[in-house]
Amino acid sequence: MSTEIEIGDIVRSYDFPDTLGLKNEFYVVGEVIDIMEYEGCLRYVIRADRRVWNGYPTLQGVTGPFYVPVNGTKTTLGGVCHGVEKVSDTELLAESLMITCGKCSLKMPTDQAHYHSGLQVWLGDNCCWDERLVSTK
Ligand SMILES: [Zn+2]
Repeated sequence: MSTEIEIGDIVRSYDFPDTLGLKNEFYVVGEVIDIMEYEGCLRYVIRADRRVWNGYPTLQGVTGPFYVPVNGTKTTLGGVCHGVEKVSDTELLAESLMITCGKCSLKMPTDQAHYHSGLQVWLGDNCCWDERLVSTK
């Protein structure tokens, strides 16, 4: 599989790619909509549709687009940018099996949510499902 990132790819952009243990706690996921020169270097333009912050999905901070230096760009500190990874088709398939909470829009596997037929939405067990709703289920 090519690791070359192109326009149209779905990517993860990590806030802390190097920080041990934090890489998978802070990132955005979205589509590369352009690759362009911006503020002195070539950047991926990413339209994010979700963010993981401190290990939890959130809709906060999903604005943008984000302008992230292309992998391989040298930093002023002598390092090399490498904070963007292509999301594989397998991962995308797994994510497409996720459902979105109808109340707060968090994504989760179906076994962590209840379908509320009255409201005709999925509600996440850990975010919005309330035992009081059982009677109206
Ligand atoms: Zn919810």
